[in-house]
Amino acid sequence: MHGPAAGSPPVLPSGKMVMWALAQVVRGPGSTIAGVEAARGRTCGRGDRTQRIHEDAAVWHGAGKVVERVAGLLNLDRGTVLGGGSILAVDFYQSVMAQISALRAKGCIADWRAGGRLGVFRLADPSRLPVIDPGELRPPSYAEVSPDTSHAGLTKSFLSILGHGSKANTYKFALARAILEYCQGECRGAGRDREEQSALRIPYEYLADKFLKYYWHQEYILHMRQYYDAKHTPHAITKLRGVFGDGTPGDYSLLDKKDTDRARRLILKSVFGHARSKTSIVVPRFQKIPVGNRTVEVRSFYDYDDDEQAIKLKPEAFEFFSKNYALLSKAVLVEWTKFLEPINPTLPRLLTKIERMSAKKQALTKYRSMLAPFTDCCFYCRSMLEPGYVQVDHLIPWTYIYDDNAWNLVLACQSCNCRKSNSLPGDEFRDGLVERNRRHRGEIPPLGASLDMLDRGRGWEAEIHAHYQTCLEYGFGTVNLP
Ligand SMILES: [Zn+2]
Repeated sequence: MHGPAAGSPPVLPSGKMVMWALAQVVRGPGSTIAGVEAARGRTCGRGDRTQRIHEDAAVWHGAGKVVERVAGLLNLDRGTVLGGGSILAVDFYQSVMAQISALRAKGCIADWRAGGRLGVFRLADPSRLPVIDPGELRPPSYAEVSPDTSHAGLTKSFLSILGHGSKANTYKFALARAILEYCQGECRGAGRDREEQSALRIPYEYLADKFLKYYWHQEYILHMRQYYDAKHTPHAITKLRGVFGDGTPGDYSLLDKKDTDRARRLILKSVFGHARSKTSIVVPRFQKIPVGNRTVEVRSFYDYDDDEQAIKLKPEAFEFFSKNYALLSKAVLVEWTKFLEPINPTLPRLLTKIERMSAKKQALTKYRSMLAPFTDCCFYCRSMLEPGYVQVDHLIPWTYIYDDNAWNLVLACQSCNCRKSNSLPGDEFRDGLVERNRRHRGEIPPLGASLDMLDRGRGWEAEIHAHYQTCLEYGFGTVNLP
């Protein structure tokens, strides 16, 4: 097996290669428990009773030593795969651990358990070791993964990342969007005058700030679900919940700076922190694309440095992102929506919601003059509306419906509109809305038209009830009015 050619990106061995080497290691000689523990700088734990008969036999292997031996058998560069803190080292460690777990699941190895600690084991059943013919092992080929930095090559890699990469969560979309926004900003703004090197350097802090804004918006304004299973809620979201709790003001600009600073720091640490302390490795994972039957990291777009807390864009990538900002952003939004759509099947207008971070509501004056002839009091508190202080309210919150539909608009006094904000009113007001629409649909043509659009065969009343219910289920709060 050969090491990487100079200048080529390092590639990890396949799982099969790791298993082949691991099998040699566990078949080979080990140490006594005391020997293993001494090598790890520890004294010998008591261990569990079933294993104690083997305590003094030289059959034990400590996980750290095993990782080193596997690296040695595969002729991997020790500095690279064992170097503390590098992403590659973390990936390699995890890859060996995954194969150890596979052996454990087959009953092939037995653990020495002392105080609940795992990491020391012996070969318990050699007959269950997988038989791998070294002839089948294909050494990683470095030539095929040199990044293609032509326009076509970058396009292909970018679309491949969005469409085929890890499906674990939406971080890759957020990262793609953040990088694109950075390039766009640098291109438009004063960035041109800056030194080229600094324009290519995107601090992790910038990325964390973007993540904070995207996920805060999706969580607290749009109430989007991020995963089928609540246990897999992305860390970026759990950190936000830890800081902001159940509720926040309806606009990012109104958040307390102390809170946003804290949330940004937490995301910085858990998503972009140093290799061993962070929970996500979105920065290195992003550039992993399928090549043949393997997934390899191809640094087409950037290099990164956890010590410097920054990614460094390649000049070709910067140009590619800057020039194609509009098109690539659309591609990111489509793929991000495709990911979230099955998780949020009943949320209206998902793509528009993800796209418009701070969507501006249209002026609603035309609806005010449309409804005013038919009502002179606030829909909620029934107080007389004073001319000049009449507000148009989306009964089912605009942040859920994301559209101005006449059927959903009512006139309200300032105080009720303000109190209601992005919440739902009680269901008596939902029934009141249905009643209002029934009474005036013939008299107000745009209202009639919007109800016809709403009706999908089971009557528009059913659709209003369904929207109200779904909105509740997505976690929009209710407020008591008046
Ligand atoms: Zn009112």
